[in-house]
Amino acid sequence: APPVVYAVTPTYSRAVQKAELTRLANTFRQVPHFHWIVVEDAGGRTELVSRFLARCGLAHTHLHVLTPRRFKRTGMPRATEQRNAALGWIRQHRSPRDRGVVFFADDDNTYSLELFEEMRSTQRVAVWPVGLVGGRRYERPLVEKGKVVGWYTGWRADRPFAIDMAGFAVNLQVILSNPRAVFKRRGAKPGMQESDFLKQITKVEDLEPKAHNCTRVLVWHTRTEKVNLGNEPKRHQDSVHIEV
Ligand code: UDP
Ligand code: MN
Repeated sequence: APPVVYAVTPTYSRAVQKAELTRLANTFRQVPHFHWIVVEDAGGRTELVSRFLARCGLAHTHLHVLTPRRFKRTGMPRATEQRNAALGWIRQHRSPRDRGVVFFADDDNTYSLELFEEMRSTQRVAVWPVGLVGGRRYERPLVEKGKVVGWYTGWRADRPFAIDMAGFAVNLQVILSNPRAVFKRRGAKPGMQESDFLKQITKVEDLEPKAHNCTRVLVWHTRTEKVNLGNEPKRHQDSVHIEV
């Protein structure tokens, strides 16, 4: 069987959460040999996400870890604890016999199906362009003679790996053989999470460029507009309670 794609999705409760998860599941359901690791930023597994996953038709693992309030300020990296919880689960439940690729799939991005077939052949760490990120139409790894030699980016070009979370995948065995590699809170700046993590497991010259030598955009860092709930009733609630 081909390697399993493990997609790690941190998610938190908000008005658009179920809509985001629905859109994601509709994509992921079309990917063969796929395992969804959903990590709620919550004190427990919520009813909404539990019910959703039970019906989504995907192989999945449902985890939770609450981000401490002190880490929820603007300008702080998001979902560090959730991604680490997923890494912990993988290290406990998968072994050197298992073949797989780990990918960090935020709940609001847009994923082409082709992306999953590109990443599936990742031997160690693979990279590719990400659309609509860093204040540009795209960012991408610069490739010469099949090797990554730098980064096309307009934001913090000093980053050792100038790449978004959606721009790389890691072979399962690399996750298992680097048991201490985690996302860091301590001293972490936004935009540096990816670099801080990747430098624990690889070097720029060892990266595997995907998507036609990093010339095709197969994932977009889309962001969902905040919903207007300004007309929610204060009195005269609806007569039924409806999950949205
Ligand atoms: N997220 C989370 N807790 C939070 C904020 C975000 O678990 O308090 C998740 C979110 O659902 C998403 C990922 O972390 O899967 C990245 O967050 P977001 O998309 O808001 O970040 P950005 O688009 O700004 O990179
Ligand atoms: Mn996002």
